[in-house]
Amino acid sequence: MRVVIAGASIAGLSAAEALRREGFRGDIVLLGDESHAPYSRPPLSKQVLDGSWSPDQVTLRTPVEIRALGLDHRHCRATGLDLAAREIATTEGRLGYDALVLATGAEPTRPGAVPGVDRALVLRTLDDALALREAMSRPGRDVVVLGAGVLASEIATAARRAGCHVTLVGRSGALTVGTIGPLLTDRVATLHETNGVHLELAAGVRAVEDVAPVPGRSAATGTPRHRVTLGDGRDILADVVVAATGSRPRTDWLHGSGLPIEDGVLCDAHGRAAPDVHAIGDVARWMDPATGVSTRVDHQTSAIDQAHHVAQSIQGAPSPASPVPFFWSGIHGTRLQAYGTLPADIPLTILEESGGRALLASLDPRSGRTLGIIGWRAARAFRDARPLVDRDRQLAGAGAGTADSPGVRDVLPLP
Ligand SMILES: Cc1cc2nc3c(=O)[nH]c(=O)nc-3n(C[C@H](O)[C@H](O)[C@H](O)COP(=O)(O)OP(=O)(O)OC[C@H]3O[C@@H](n4cnc5c(N)ncnc54)[C@H](O)[C@@H]3O)c2cc1C
Repeated sequence: MRVVIAGASIAGLSAAEALRREGFRGDIVLLGDESHAPYSRPPLSKQVLDGSWSPDQVTLRTPVEIRALGLDHRHCRATGLDLAAREIATTEGRLGYDALVLATGAEPTRPGAVPGVDRALVLRTLDDALALREAMSRPGRDVVVLGAGVLASEIATAARRAGCHVTLVGRSGALTVGTIGPLLTDRVATLHETNGVHLELAAGVRAVEDVAPVPGRSAATGTPRHRVTLGDGRDILADVVVAATGSRPRTDWLHGSGLPIEDGVLCDAHGRAAPDVHAIGDVARWMDPATGVSTRVDHQTSAIDQAHHVAQSIQGAPSPASPVPFFWSGIHGTRLQAYGTLPADIPLTILEESGGRALLASLDPRSGRTLGIIGWRAARAFRDARPLVDRDRQLAGAGAGTADSPGVRDVLPLP
């Protein structure tokens, strides 16, 4: 039997490892289009960007470790899928499969229809992180971050740490942390302001253009300065402009295959998109049995949990519980953790708050069940409350989390 995995990052590699752990002895072909050994992305916007980690510290598995798993790791790109023939097309030819795992992740998007916005750097790959780190490496540089989500906040954090002047430009008037409402995002805004980040949350951006280098400043590095024109016509001059304005799943190569695609590969609650075809990680939209809604959960632990889940399905093990979304971030030294489902239309409830620490929850207004929890500088309370979410999901028939499943701790550099 041959399993082909398209995408050799955390989701794809975790699926391959989980298959071997489950005792799968057939062929595993892992296809990846990046030149680096598989690496972890969360540290890119944290330890790599602020310089506390060297690039090799993000490596998940070296080529030797990958060979030890008995994987056929091919550096090539998947270009098409023929479901009827059970074949995948690649830049190195066609390849038959008995089971296929789609793990091609996501890529950054820039704000559409903004002239010059392609001048903005983005952050998705290790090379992106190193380029951004270099661009921010001189204290006193002016950095404009486009975007109001968690990634934008993390970039702003690293830029302040590097001694840059930082303006964060949003459009909606508020910061966003997934779908979580103002009880949390107002705290993040205060955190930015007390750490010297200038917020322009309602401004939006109208254009980005190059301006003449300033002698002794950008001229020395040959880097042009940029003029960022905000939606209301005001200009901000910047040495570095970076766009953290969202991502889209890498499904282009699957168009025309007949797979259901709608902001990701649509899957059932077990990651099945078609017979013997599964999707995991940032490219996938699994149905969440707790809410009945299909969601693309772009979090690293979800990618690992889904990989483990799909490996068990391929091996014919009884369907395990659906993975529970888990996410963490670090903004100006404050740790933020979220577990479970946090619907936008349910205001958060404060469960505990003292000494700058808080535990918040999303409680189902009808059943009172705990759908999800958030820890704000409250790692211990958060850990203690996780079983509440698992219990209530089980009561709702959605299954509990698998974050402690074998292998997760092996693969994931824990925050
Ligand atoms: C800067 C940054 C910070 C993050 N921080 C956090 C965090 O703090 N907490 C958290 O939970 N999550 C975080 N995330 C999200 C997390 O990294 C992702 O959820 C995770 O990387 C998803 O893994 P994946 O394997 O599905 O996709 P990816 O990591 O995107 O990997 C997909 C791989 O497939 C390859 N590929 C794409 N198309 C093809 C093709 N056609 N053929 C072959 N190969 C292909 C890609 O090049 C890539 O190597 C962060 C992400 C970024 C970018």
